[in-house]
Amino acid sequence: MKFDTKLLHSGFNPKEHNMCINVPIYPTTAFDFGSVQRGADLFDLKCEGDIYTRLSNPTSNILEKRLADLEGGVGALCFSSGQAATTAAILNITSANQEVVASSTLYGGTCNLFSHTLKKLGIEVKFALGDDIEDFEKLITNKTRCIFIELLSNPALNIIDIEKLAKLAHKNNIPLIVDNTIPTPYLCKPIEWGADIVVHSTTKYLSGHGNAMGGAIVDSGNFDWAKAGKFPELSEPDESYHGIVYTETFKNAAFIVKARAQLIRDLGSSPSPFNSYLTISGLETLSLRMQRHCESALKVARFLEDNKYISWVNYPMLESNKYHSLAKKYTPKGCSSIVGFGLIGGASAGVKFIEALKIPIFTTNIGDTRSIITYPYITTHRQLSEAQMKACKIGADTMRFSVGLEDIDDIIDDLDNAIRESQK
Ligand SMILES: *Cc1c(COP(=O)(O)O)cnc(C)c1O
Repeated sequence: MKFDTKLLHSGFNPKEHNMCINVPIYPTTAFDFGSVQRGADLFDLKCEGDIYTRLSNPTSNILEKRLADLEGGVGALCFSSGQAATTAAILNITSANQEVVASSTLYGGTCNLFSHTLKKLGIEVKFALGDDIEDFEKLITNKTRCIFIELLSNPALNIIDIEKLAKLAHKNNIPLIVDNTIPTPYLCKPIEWGADIVVHSTTKYLSGHGNAMGGAIVDSGNFDWAKAGKFPELSEPDESYHGIVYTETFKNAAFIVKARAQLIRDLGSSPSPFNSYLTISGLETLSLRMQRHCESALKVARFLEDNKYISWVNYPMLESNKYHSLAKKYTPKGCSSIVGFGLIGGASAGVKFIEALKIPIFTTNIGDTRSIITYPYITTHRQLSEAQMKACKIGADTMRFSVGLEDIDDIIDDLDNAIRESQK
């Protein structure tokens, strides 16, 4: 099946669900084992089936199969949020006294998780200072267990050469984990470029309608954990699961099976079946929405580039952008919905601009059907010192616009008017 067909059909057969044409919601906490033997087999992971919704649920299972298919992986596991998915992806293969190498341009929540919470667990995350492969290479030690990056990072939108980074990771017998939230598999499938694990905040474009929090991990099935010799939690007996050896029993699905059987069992960061249902429903229109997001974002970027009150525009599809050639390689259909720009006139112009806008919602989210304007200087980054802001490349002029699905003429008129008001 091609991508757009998978969006609508993967992982779901109406014959297995009372002939429903739409994916049903299974609002149940537990499942009847049916027989003593089946109960025992389920607990031995000898047969497939649901036990308790913290571990799996039929509605979420459909979303998992669909996401695995869309990204080209062997399996997926859904979570209550993107943060929960990232946490589990790291903890699945990293313990105290081990390290992670990550890009420094990451979503703020991931930055906090990496610099504070993982540190408390004894895991050190080393941040690469630049986007070049050498910036990552020099941080790798024999304690490093994975490399973690975002593709089209939020909000800097930089693009790291995944293909080269995957080669570096594999040379060091460690996997590459890519947060693919902003491109979605419609714009790029990191597994095709060598990524081993993909994580998502489904809260954004995948569900798309701003109505359901969620996260997911997709396992490519390509990384040989046993051969790498660094991951005893996958290739040696798991005491917490009757001594099961994941790489022997589950072969190339070892990572994703362990994440479910052990981590989501213990951490409990499972999705609600209702949210999985909403995400499946939103996912059906992913291609159509992403096409429109990309088309409109490029028009907004070009409009801003020509406006005399705008000092800079960041959108990698623009020929002038530093990442344009990498965008052509990795996201040739477009660079998603986020456009960053600088408004002349400092904080007083910034405040007037936000107040004059009529269409976009003033909040911090992205990837909603509705346009969203973010002013980090007044909101997300206001606690930082001037020096810290400078390091994050945030100033009084910095605006971030997630271009929604409204009529593009209305969006541009609204921006044009608010920019003029801001200069009064
Ligand atoms: C929002 C976001 C996250 C976190 O996801 P939540 O669903 O909010 O927990 C992680 N990565 C990126 C790139 C994001 O934009």
